[in-house]
Amino acid sequence: MNELDAAAHAAALGHSITRFHPMANEAPLSCKACGGGDIQIFYRVKSVPAHSCLMMSSRDEALAFPRGDIELGFCRACGFIGNVRFDPALERYSAAYEETQAYSPRFLKFLDEVWDDQIDRFGLGPGMTALEIGCGKGEFLVGLCERSGCAGIGIDPGYRPERTRSSATQRMSFIRDLYGPQYAHLQAEYVCCRHTLEHIAPVFDFVRLVRETLGERRHVNVYFELPDMERVLQQGAFWDIYYEHCTYFTRGSLARLFRSAGFDVRRLYKVYDDQYLMLEAEPAAAPTGPTLPEEDDLAWVTSLVDRFEQQVNDRVRSLSETIAAHRAAGHRLAIWGSGSKCVSLISSLGLACGNDAEPAIVDINPHKHGKFLAGSGLQIVGPDALGQIRPDVVLIMNSIYTEEIRDELAARGLEPHLIPL
Ligand SMILES: [Zn+2]
Repeated sequence: MNELDAAAHAAALGHSITRFHPMANEAPLSCKACGGGDIQIFYRVKSVPAHSCLMMSSRDEALAFPRGDIELGFCRACGFIGNVRFDPALERYSAAYEETQAYSPRFLKFLDEVWDDQIDRFGLGPGMTALEIGCGKGEFLVGLCERSGCAGIGIDPGYRPERTRSSATQRMSFIRDLYGPQYAHLQAEYVCCRHTLEHIAPVFDFVRLVRETLGERRHVNVYFELPDMERVLQQGAFWDIYYEHCTYFTRGSLARLFRSAGFDVRRLYKVYDDQYLMLEAEPAAAPTGPTLPEEDDLAWVTSLVDRFEQQVNDRVRSLSETIAAHRAAGHRLAIWGSGSKCVSLISSLGLACGNDAEPAIVDINPHKHGKFLAGSGLQIVGPDALGQIRPDVVLIMNSIYTEEIRDELAARGLEPHLIPL
């Protein structure tokens, strides 16, 4: 494919990544992090499933799932990136939301490291309370309480009480709700929020709410964990951009947000092959100024945003060519990992073609088996089904799982060609 064809291909798939100015009759865009008005639209995808982790029990339901548009806006003043077309009315978080990665040994090892590090760093132990905002199914909080002996409070509308089996449950409580000012009375020495901020559009209002609910309790340690956008921009990893994630941060933009909302940022770092961004902060009396060298990334991130269109075009072209070549050779394709990245990749590359060439979708989370992917309606199978399907090629949605997936395949006598993303 030459460059023109690639651009046409990208456009046909809904990618249109030109600099965009709002029409005269549209309200000017303003940054949800700093309030600034210099917003550059640099990436667009039309009509993607509004949720990609909600499990659909029928193909029809999955195909009819509500869709929304993505237009990523970059604030040239603070570096914040958000989907300016995000419509909160399409949000449907519920107990059918399957976000957990706790079935992967590699992920559990990572959780081990985070638990040990956080308990050690903040001296969590008996007599203390950890509060987790957006606790999902509660596995992080449970592990924290089990290992440290502290008490725990988890808040999440998607929490499922029947999934928690732990000796620590008698000192834990869960609230099935979104976090809000009504929870300001909850006392904790440690507040964490993992993989939640990227689902929240009014980011300043949210971080400010967290700060306000802490009030004068300046000793509270605050820990946030979320996907890192710097890596996505650098690698043109378009499958990491999806509707559920309405906001995207790099180290600098995250620190600037917390500082402006009245926190002092103490530590800012990346983990998990640089896929996740971690921030540790303490409440301050007023907005604070930058102190860490890694906060100073605005010029660099601006250059990455300006190059992103080309990066994505290159990625779409090369993946499309690879998949087309395997299909032409009659190879059976499977995609390992049925989460949001998979839904995004399928819709971006048009892989749900309605015929025999459709990829098999594999996931190790047993709660997903037999369910259908929003948007494409493809059904999710467990690794055991691969013995029958016998894929020739397996696309791995997150390269960090390559070795464990290779082992799972080998255990079933399979040695397909692996393409880790
Ligand atoms: Zn901004």
